[in-house]
Amino acid sequence: AGQQESFKYVVLGGGNASGYAAREFVKRGTPKGELAIITDEPYVAYERPALSKAYLNPEGAARLPGFHTTVGGGGDKQSPEWYGENGITYKTKTKVTEADVKNKTLKTADGDSIKYEKLIIATGARPVDLGDFGTKGADLKGIFYLRNVEDADKLIAAFPAAKAKGGKAIVVGGGYIGMEVSCGLNKNGLDVTVVFPEDRLMERLFTPEIAEFYESYYLDKGVTLKRGSTVASFEGEDGQVTHAVLKSGEKLEADLVLVGVGARPNIELFKGQVELLQDKPGGIKVDGRLRTSDPDVYAIGDVAAFPLKRYGSVTRQEHVANCRQTAAHAVAAILAPSETGDYNYLPFFYSRIYDLGWQYYGTSNDAEPVFFGDKASKKFGTYFVSEGKVVGAFLEGGSNDENAALKKVAEQQPDAPADLASQGLAFASKL
Ligand code: FAD
Repeated sequence: AGQQESFKYVVLGGGNASGYAAREFVKRGTPKGELAIITDEPYVAYERPALSKAYLNPEGAARLPGFHTTVGGGGDKQSPEWYGENGITYKTKTKVTEADVKNKTLKTADGDSIKYEKLIIATGARPVDLGDFGTKGADLKGIFYLRNVEDADKLIAAFPAAKAKGGKAIVVGGGYIGMEVSCGLNKNGLDVTVVFPEDRLMERLFTPEIAEFYESYYLDKGVTLKRGSTVASFEGEDGQVTHAVLKSGEKLEADLVLVGVGARPNIELFKGQVELLQDKPGGIKVDGRLRTSDPDVYAIGDVAAFPLKRYGSVTRQEHVANCRQTAAHAVAAILAPSETGDYNYLPFFYSRIYDLGWQYYGTSNDAEPVFFGDKASKKFGTYFVSEGKVVGAFLEGGSNDENAALKKVAEQQPDAPADLASQGLAFASKL
């Protein structure tokens, strides 16, 4: 305790974005000893999306070091040794408890201080806790959240006892975490019920026609969907959850509960230090170069609220594509400022469940959906048309080339022909 160190560049947070930032620093020839990454997790950066997918497989599950960044982005697998070889100081199990931007200093829980010349904030987000909504019984044992390896290990460790009691699992939330974990629990032989307030899965992204396909897929696998439902409270015995009580009064048996109802950006350290976005979407406000209100402090990944140049809005994106690209862009803005313009992100989402996988590019805001393809063959999609232009595109079961074509559509926003639906994928492939 009381130790003082100083680095030219410090990345705070050892999540997905930090790994890609490290890659960019190395690519640009940063001398050894200049970069430090600080995280409270016990592992160097890994591809977080694996936790709700291959990590939960009953057989051949993904485990570290198999999915360190940047394997998901087509780069080297950056093991702890990789950081060492590249002269990067990676401090794991180190929680930063105080930031003093004026004096360019971070303080750790152990009482050490770390000085920087340039700071990149990559503190990510944390799951919204049902206790924050005052849900009674939210602190019972057997209720899980999923953000990091430790969470995933706790969840998996609870499977045998839950199965011994009857194996009833409740998943709270119908977004992509809820959908992916439901698949994982179902594959592990648990009897899954998904409880969500909307009238369909992934309501913000899926049209009713898209949602219907995935919903019937789950039903075929024996998963129960409780749409239009909210958990009012949990009941338990000996401190262990036994039931989820819905607002309707219905009581569901619950031997294990997984909550996936959204995330909150980790901004608390920087209150009064840099400008935060008070209104939705929250987060740390940055400009097109990912720079905060302090010229030596940048923010990337889930925590950054940035100008979405293409659509003239300000957004926060809790997705790996954005965390990879903001990481690279911020490092470029620091190391090569005169060559680096404004960040120009194209929204991109994907998910995988069972033998399915979808991708989505662009926007569906105020747009008319145009369905194409054939659900029975597990290959179908939807274009989103606004003011005569195709502004977004969704595809299930696409090949790499087809997904790349879809991306082009969202980038170029071509005029929508009258026979768009019958042209289907051919329309994207022609661009
Ligand atoms: P994070 O990866 O959250 O990293 C933040 C890091 O900062 C963490 O290590 C945290 O412990 C650390 N930290 C925070 N505060 C402090 C502090 N004070 N001191 C020290 N360390 C601190 N996105 C997709 O696009 N597709 C998917 O399929 C997908 N699946 C996902 C599945 C799961 C289960 C989860 C949780 C997320 C998924 N995401 C997915 C989202 C994606 O993982 C995030 O967008 C990405 O991880 C964001 O990276 P980040 O570096 O900004 O934040």
